[in-house]
Amino acid sequence: MSGCVDIIGLGPGAEDLRCPRAARALEQATDLVGYVPYVERVAAATGQRVHGSDNREEIMRARLALELAEQGRRVAVVSSGDGGVFGMAAAVFEAMDHGEPQWRDLDVQVYPGVSAVLAAAARLGAPFGNDFCVISLSDNLKPWGVILNRVEAAAQVGFAMAFYNPISKSRPWQLGEALDRLRVHLPGSVPVMFARAVSRPEEHVAFTTLGDARPEQADMRTLVIVGNAETRVIERAGRDPWVYTPRSVGGG
Ligand code: SAH
Repeated sequence: MSGCVDIIGLGPGAEDLRCPRAARALEQATDLVGYVPYVERVAAATGQRVHGSDNREEIMRARLALELAEQGRRVAVVSSGDGGVFGMAAAVFEAMDHGEPQWRDLDVQVYPGVSAVLAAAARLGAPFGNDFCVISLSDNLKPWGVILNRVEAAAQVGFAMAFYNPISKSRPWQLGEALDRLRVHLPGSVPVMFARAVSRPEEHVAFTTLGDARPEQADMRTLVIVGNAETRVIERAGRDPWVYTPRSVGGG
């Protein structure tokens, strides 16, 4: 069996933020599997068969990748950022776990990428200098009550936070509700940043506070970053501020 599945994180957007090892694996693929906008972006490389699909069909897409590898194809399963962060990596393993026994013998490799949380943090300064968590606000794959509980728990124990999938046409109110819940536990002065399309030409970053943050400031290409009580903003004349969370907490 000479086929393989390479699970590849493409990085946040900019070509030079794609890890070299991932880029090399991508070049060697015979087939690309992934969400249409991503595979189309990559398909400029010649000769690769593209199997695009809708964003919600992750497990079907993962099964297809394993089937193609079984037929001897060299398959790249692509995600933006890192494939392991709300991406295709877990879908491939879920399909393997519940799929054909021989899929376990396939040559599968995961190539890490720069996730949006790291690209956005670097753009802003160092908002995650201490403990933090990442939460997807999408309730497509988990109940909204679970998400709200996690957001609340994160605020209560003092994690800084990054919200992936903050808002979409079919999920218009969830971010507003999450921000309202945070306001119960955190001071209005906590820094909040909306980092959109980081490292792409359309990049846009907005700085505000929990008290003033509005859900309309986000779209589906935005990562929402919420600091904690220690997070600080260094204002600069005529330039974006730097945001950082100190390495030490409570005199530690
Ligand atoms: N696997 C990806 C995340 C996919 S979920 C990763 O590791 O980054 C899609 C969400 O990621 C978007 O809704 C947005 O919140 C975030 N995202 C992806 N790319 C981004 C970018 N360049 N800038 C800001 N947020 C981004």
